[in-house]
Amino acid sequence: MHIFEEMAEYRYEQLVFCHDKSTGLRAVIAIHDTTLGPSLGGCRMWPYASEEEAVVDALRLARGMTYKAAASGLNLGGGKSVIIGDPKRDKSEALFRSFGRYVETLGGRYIVAEDVGISPEEIEHIRVETSHVAGVDITRGGSGDPSPLTALGVFEGIRACVAEARGSDALEGVAVAVQGLGHVGYHLCRLLHEAGARMMVADLNAAAVEGAVAEFGAKAAEPDEILFVPCDVFAPCALGAVVDDETLPRLRCSIIAGSANNVLAEARHGEALAERGILYAPDYVINAGGLINVADELEGYNRERATKRVMRIRDSVERIIAISKRDGVPTNVAADTLALERIAAISSMERLHTGHPYGTLRRSRETI
Ligand code: NAD
Repeated sequence: MHIFEEMAEYRYEQLVFCHDKSTGLRAVIAIHDTTLGPSLGGCRMWPYASEEEAVVDALRLARGMTYKAAASGLNLGGGKSVIIGDPKRDKSEALFRSFGRYVETLGGRYIVAEDVGISPEEIEHIRVETSHVAGVDITRGGSGDPSPLTALGVFEGIRACVAEARGSDALEGVAVAVQGLGHVGYHLCRLLHEAGARMMVADLNAAAVEGAVAEFGAKAAEPDEILFVPCDVFAPCALGAVVDDETLPRLRCSIIAGSANNVLAEARHGEALAERGILYAPDYVINAGGLINVADELEGYNRERATKRVMRIRDSVERIIAISKRDGVPTNVAADTLALERIAAISSMERLHTGHPYGTLRRSRETI
């Protein structure tokens, strides 16, 4: 892998290799872009098959965070970290404190949060060594479980799409197929039910389906058929890559809007959806409620403020639809445009003031 070529092509700012022989720490921190603010992103612990795989994952995920934060209107940049190791075997207090000391050396350019393989307990170990941490446990003044606010963001995004497709954002009688009744999907069903939507639901967990049928009057569907039921909105809240060459011709919805990451197997499927007249709410925008919620901790967590900010996902989805029409591009491309336009606007401001094309943010140290 040619690391500097990769960094140059996608304009990564910094890649940090962290090693501590005494604790066995092997970690990578990738900072993609701090134009809008300090980079924030989760730390993932995973038994990567190779060092290259770990570096590629950190870089890829960090860049995604830049787009997500920018399109969500947050004053944050994109970063991500990975710890090479098996979360079932290799965790120790010493390891995470050692990692925390590395985060501290970055002086706030990177703020670490939870991701796959990391729990609030490890965040507490990291926090002993650095204050540049988000996703702190609710009992310690943090934002707690992000899922209810992720669901709220998805709900607002659905309303924006329904308004576009039907001329009114009223959800009474609107048919929504929800795939996955986990942390986000179940909360989403509650909001949809309160708004008068009709729901079809599927999950591998029969108890969750029974719960949604009893509590929200939802109709149960089989997991392998939920994608193809006739409905107004298909809400993927389980798996990624649900829209691919095989599923696309069989979809019978007019809107796709859910919490799952990487809904499109490939970017070209965004164009194919547009050609079929299916309105797609880009995943990283509509599912940003969790990030918006956790980012609120940086100002001293306030649930009411976080909730209001999450509700603005509706505005972001509206803007994306407008850009999609303006530029004649599918909505997944329009989401990237929204993010890049915001970064470009701020970086030209920085250039005016500092003469630096990517204006390293001094305010990052002050806010954290
Ligand atoms: P979760 O693990 O709590 O729930 C996922 C649910 O999907 C489970 O109940 C599981 O049984 C079900 N499921 C798995 N495969 C299925 C299938 N083939 N058909 C039907 N159901 C299936 O996860 P979550 O936290 O609710 O997140 C859901 C999705 O949203 C994930 O893709 C996640 O990455 C994404 N997401 C979550 C958040 C958040 O705040 N939790 C934020 C952003 C994105």
